[in-house]
Amino acid sequence: MVLFQDLRNQILREGADLCGIAHIEPSHSAILELGSKSRTHLLRAVSIGIRLPDSVIDQLHRRSSTRIAVMYRHIYDETNAELDRIASIAETILEAAGTKALAVPASETVDSKRMYGAFSHKMAAHLAGLGWIGKSCLLITPGAGPRVRWATVLTDAPLKATGSATEQGCGECKQCVDICPAEAFTGRPYRKGEHRDLRFDTGRCSEYTRGKEKELDCPVLCGLCVYICPYGKTDLR
Ligand code: SF4
Ligand code: SF4
Repeated sequence: MVLFQDLRNQILREGADLCGIAHIEPSHSAILELGSKSRTHLLRAVSIGIRLPDSVIDQLHRRSSTRIAVMYRHIYDETNAELDRIASIAETILEAAGTKALAVPASETVDSKRMYGAFSHKMAAHLAGLGWIGKSCLLITPGAGPRVRWATVLTDAPLKATGSATEQGCGECKQCVDICPAEAFTGRPYRKGEHRDLRFDTGRCSEYTRGKEKELDCPVLCGLCVYICPYGKTDLR
């Protein structure tokens, strides 16, 4: 417990906004499916979250603005770099305590076609009690909705879980489904064990994004599903 408090305090001091511990055994099959076979002996996950700035996310509906597209890409990349730095510090703390640890990069795609990362940071944060998997397949936190980026440190340290899988809070809402210009979401709520393909056509999202990049002639991330979620909207908080 002392180890967790020290670890959490250090992670927050370094600039993270959220931190939790998950026991990831219950989602082994989902995590394995996401290409994490080499990491399965480390059964605890330290989730680290940093909030994306509202000043940028609140403007993402202005899709024809190159300035907004460039700003979003910039804060996305900067946040990932910051998460990787903090995850590396957490990894060092855990190793100094005599346990095994492995920082999984915030953005590491092992299957670019299907947009799979090496590890589901969202699943770990969900199991740590930090939010639920929304109809947008994003992790929805009660305080900032999907406006959070995540990294994870896997470890065998005997850390207690900070929570359990958070219950769905989407209810009848389907704003992310309706706003998606690529019609990539089916609107089906997340159910444990169900494949993501039943809820999200990642190919449509990628195709739309590539088209936008050509139109604006700069690297683009869409993010309308991040922008619209009422749990993150600043005027509704
Ligand atoms: S990023 Fe845009 S295109 Fe992709 S799923 Fe979200 S709303 Fe749809
Ligand atoms: S926009 Fe609505 S349906 Fe989509 S993730 Fe947020 S709460 Fe859920």
